[in-house]
Amino acid sequence: MTRRTPHPVPSPPMRSIQIGGISTNGILRCKIRSFATGPTYEIGVRLDNGLVHCTCPHFEYRCLKYHPTLWSPKVCKHLATYRETLIRERRLRRAALRAVR
Ligand SMILES: [Zn+2]
Repeated sequence: MTRRTPHPVPSPPMRSIQIGGISTNGILRCKIRSFATGPTYEIGVRLDNGLVHCTCPHFEYRCLKYHPTLWSPKVCKHLATYRETLIRERRLRRAALRAVR
């Protein structure tokens, strides 16, 4: 009788996000990669009116015509991930501030 080796458990997809700096023209830039080996896209958030942009095909073909902002429901997954990250970071920062008080 041979023992079957268990199937390796697939690891959850990793999304890497790199919060960029604010460029001189008032656009918050950020590079985001869908998965560990996926393509990297660049997103931008205009700080004066909140309009967003992403270099991925989904955004170019489907979202761009709506002129979405960061809080629009119709944004690509990269912008959605960015939004989630911002919310999570704000929560973490608040929790940290409460902890030191
Ligand atoms: Zn995108």
